[in-house]
Amino acid sequence: MLIKLVDCHCHFDDYIDEGVAKKVLQEALESGVVCIVGVGMDFESSKKILDASKENNFLTPCVGIHPWESWKSTDDDIKKVLELIEENVEVLAGIGEVGLDFRFIKGADKWQRQREVFEFFVKIAAEYNLTLNIHAVNAEKEIISLLNKYDIERAVFHWYTGPFTTLQDILSSGYYISTNLSITYSRRVMEIIRRTPLNKIVLESDSPYDFKGIMANPSHVKVVAEKVAEIKKSSIVEIAEITTKNAKKLFNLRF
Ligand SMILES: [Zn+2]
Repeated sequence: MLIKLVDCHCHFDDYIDEGVAKKVLQEALESGVVCIVGVGMDFESSKKILDASKENNFLTPCVGIHPWESWKSTDDDIKKVLELIEENVEVLAGIGEVGLDFRFIKGADKWQRQREVFEFFVKIAAEYNLTLNIHAVNAEKEIISLLNKYDIERAVFHWYTGPFTTLQDILSSGYYISTNLSITYSRRVMEIIRRTPLNKIVLESDSPYDFKGIMANPSHVKVVAEKVAEIKKSSIVEIAEITTKNAKKLFNLRF
């Protein structure tokens, strides 16, 4: 059976660092993943993913500064990422991983810096009509207001676990949520997927990440698709078809 899946959120630079990028891509392809959207944490990881994507059609890059890094980033760090965006706007899938995280990072001054950096990238996304690949933790509502303020057209809330009420705001604004292996054990994530229409769901590995003992890689997107199929009382064929169609629309992917 031929299925086509898209991994909408992968920290692919880690595989480049470990020297296993080829092997990981091969395994992903064998499981039906035809496209991996890589996301940067900072300038270095963003550049690595961008460079690798130029040699590999299966990898498509997002560049950005993650909220775990943004609170300590200098104006120069931001300028370097901005240059990456401006020089590569034609090949980017979007800007990410960017967002706000008020749970893992604590302290009003750090939150303030996160806000400044995130708003900067939201503005840039609006200016270049780019998709946002978003990390939102304990800041979901604030992020939605900011996206609405700048009329952002396309955004995905990666690994969405936030409030059900905010989920409605995400969906009514036309944004997507992505889900990963946490769907195999988290009742909350299962409920979020149950409440989200299929045309607003995309899949991701968030790899490499340890999901309760399973070290995720992009090929696990197939497992995620199977679980979504079970929750939606559908088939993996249908889930692959719809989520891939969604991902193509979300990131303007051409394949
Ligand atoms: Zn991530």
